[in-house]
Amino acid sequence: MKKGQNKANVHVLRIRGSDPVDCMRYVVVSGGVLSGIGKGVTASSIGVLLKSMGLKVTAIKIDPYLNSDAGTMSPFEHGEVFVLDDGGEVDLDLGNYERFLDIRLGRDNNLTTGKVYSAVIERERRGDYLGKTVQVVPHITNEIQEWIEKVAQQCSDGSGDKPDVCVIELGGTVGDIESAPFVEALRQFQFRVGRENICFFHVSLVPVIGVVGEQKTKPTQHTVKELRAAGLAPDFLVCRSSEPLLPEVKDKLSSFCHVDPAHVFSAHDVPNIYHVALMMDEQGASKLLASRLGLSVPESRPQLDEWRTMAAKVDNLDKDLRIAMVGKYTGLSDSYLSVIKALQHAAFNAGARMNIDWVEAEYLEPEQLTENPEKHAEYWAMVKEADGVLVPGGFGNRGVEGKMCAARYCRKSGKPYLGICLGLQIAVIDFARDVLGKIGANSTEFDEATPHPTVIFMPEGSKTHMGGTMRLGSRQTNLQTEDCEAFRLYGGEMKIHERHRHRYEVNPEMVEELEAAGLRFVGKDTEGERMEIIELKGHPYFFATQYHPEFKSRPNRPSPPFVGLIEAALSAQ
Ligand code: GLN
Repeated sequence: MKKGQNKANVHVLRIRGSDPVDCMRYVVVSGGVLSGIGKGVTASSIGVLLKSMGLKVTAIKIDPYLNSDAGTMSPFEHGEVFVLDDGGEVDLDLGNYERFLDIRLGRDNNLTTGKVYSAVIERERRGDYLGKTVQVVPHITNEIQEWIEKVAQQCSDGSGDKPDVCVIELGGTVGDIESAPFVEALRQFQFRVGRENICFFHVSLVPVIGVVGEQKTKPTQHTVKELRAAGLAPDFLVCRSSEPLLPEVKDKLSSFCHVDPAHVFSAHDVPNIYHVALMMDEQGASKLLASRLGLSVPESRPQLDEWRTMAAKVDNLDKDLRIAMVGKYTGLSDSYLSVIKALQHAAFNAGARMNIDWVEAEYLEPEQLTENPEKHAEYWAMVKEADGVLVPGGFGNRGVEGKMCAARYCRKSGKPYLGICLGLQIAVIDFARDVLGKIGANSTEFDEATPHPTVIFMPEGSKTHMGGTMRLGSRQTNLQTEDCEAFRLYGGEMKIHERHRHRYEVNPEMVEELEAAGLRFVGKDTEGERMEIIELKGHPYFFATQYHPEFKSRPNRPSPPFVGLIEAALSAQ
């Protein structure tokens, strides 16, 4: 369908000033019963269906916490901090939307309670409310609605066009105290944009229990009741379950939850996430959604061939790869979600299954040989037996020396190595210690009094304030030569744009000496002051980047540094 083609059956519902509000469609995805049942993947998959119908899709994630953004949140507790082009530090679900829909979002696409309250309080201080009592309803709820309406219009695919549909994922589970103002805002929003232009998906859980494997509907009944009490009637139910929902269970959910039986979708376990969109389409989701939103979709749509191919490819991988991930937050794989995705994209494209061995960096340190001999041996065996090693980004002291041990081992043994951000910094420090003989070389982040400051604090802005000094978002890297791996991997590009999230940099004063000893700085920032990519000549793959390439990896366009790691790891087998 061409853009604008659906305008005939579009209602221009509200006139604000003299401008008619454009008829954007909204799809709200809420969740109930439990968190972590795949609401983000469901929301992204709904976006895939809409996109495959020929629509331009954008997405907003609502996080009802008081933090302004995810930048200050521990990845151990909350999962990774995803970084956007504009430097926004956001919830990892925005990474799902970018990967699934191949779009680029901005910081405002992540709406938090913190942001809404800050905006309202700022207005109150400016006197914008003209002496009124400022309240959750209507001031907070209005702010939420205005925010959504404004952000939904922003182009997300580089074309300059406004999106046609905005998927809004409501974080948390319905019934939480925190999400109440958002639920209320969305209830009002239906009237603002017209009931026919917005629809609601509710993602719930249908547990399967007992020896006969009975599919239980009660948790879903309760969560829908709660949703309806708040004034939101779901149009569609997406039921997570280990087994396909039985027809009678769909019927029961339909009658108890007041949802059309055809609108109850089974989201049972599938071999890989690319199947989710396909599974929903097979149950009629695309056509039903289009009809619910009054979109006329040609017979030939949705075109999901790309997804079918991808899902089949991942189901039929014929090789195995083992990558040792040497990090700190290894208890929660969500802490490194984008890195895992980027590894998978690269491996899948090479026809290989990705097996990740989680190595707690601390235990690789030499003193652990006596303090924790079993763990020390176990983790070293993982590093040595892996086809490749990855040291991802990180902050703080713990495990840093262990990461250096892993980088040194890879450098000396010819084991493929990819370092990201901190993974570059520790590789450079280790090189300074081991090859240049600079005893005690370190980053000033870990040892302020180091005799050889190899990695130093180099803020782009203020040199005296820590707050807001992180180098964040997309920056250009210039390759220094065509004679390097980076040039080959990035398809002959000399200018690379990748996302950053760090404060420290390789000390420019040490670059010459390091280079003379064989470490190659093949990518630098536009001023030539900040080292962006290192390589080692004669090594099968010793590659590290100051930027985070994982954030721009796509299923069909794996990130070049990851492709390099996977290629080298496969040829080392
Ligand atoms: N802690 C390092 C810095 O701030 C590395 C950051 C990272 O790996 N994201 O520079």
